[in-house]
Amino acid sequence: MIELRTPAQIEQMRPAGRFVGEVLTALAAKAAVGVNLLELDELAHQMIRDRGAESCYIDYHPSFGASPFGKVLCTSVNDAVLHGLPHDYALEDGDLLSVDFAASVDGWVADSALSVVVGTPRQEDLDLIEVTGRALDAAIAQAQPGNRLGDISAAIGDVARAAGLGINLQFGGHGVGRTMHGEPHVPNDGRAGRGLKLRPGLVLALEPWFLHTTDEIYTDEDGWTLRSQDGSRGAHMEHTVAITADGPLVLTERAA
Ligand code: MG
Repeated sequence: MIELRTPAQIEQMRPAGRFVGEVLTALAAKAAVGVNLLELDELAHQMIRDRGAESCYIDYHPSFGASPFGKVLCTSVNDAVLHGLPHDYALEDGDLLSVDFAASVDGWVADSALSVVVGTPRQEDLDLIEVTGRALDAAIAQAQPGNRLGDISAAIGDVARAAGLGINLQFGGHGVGRTMHGEPHVPNDGRAGRGLKLRPGLVLALEPWFLHTTDEIYTDEDGWTLRSQDGSRGAHMEHTVAITADGPLVLTERAA
């Protein structure tokens, strides 16, 4: 079922969005050569406790997961791109790190992700992150009342294709509200002018993710982490966006 939120409910979602943005800002600032993924998870966990928020991940156990997730953060490094289970690994120079974080504040969920390079970057990794961010911006620009869901999907796909990147349709965006994953599913490619009509009150997590040279992934033996089939690196950018009568409102906007 697709649920629409009132303007008052969207206002109530702002603290969750602000908190998730603050956590990602703190994680991006902490991520550096030598920092362990478990330290990043612990930082996010401490911020959850301090805020009185609730993790959306720690007890998460969907059909595709091997067991309850057990951590509050997804940390995906290099050829890992989604659902990375934090483990005992110290970041190395040039690593491409994607962090995905969702939490509930006052009963409302926000979900957001970003990618960064720690230490000395490879130009191709910076380019991949830039394209992924541009796809997210293009998607947000289409999150307008009267548009169709396919306009958002097509905007993401167009950016990827123009950059010569493949697109995987297994995992994409989703509705967000009282829980992390609601309808509709938002594929990262589609046909403009098709699909659900976008109305004020629809709140979506939009999340393009791309790999350098493949669109195929496999699940790591940890049962969660999704890695590229060919070992190429991935990037992932996500915001929670409310469609309002005035246009898109990015709830998880981070301070610059
Ligand atoms: Mg997310």
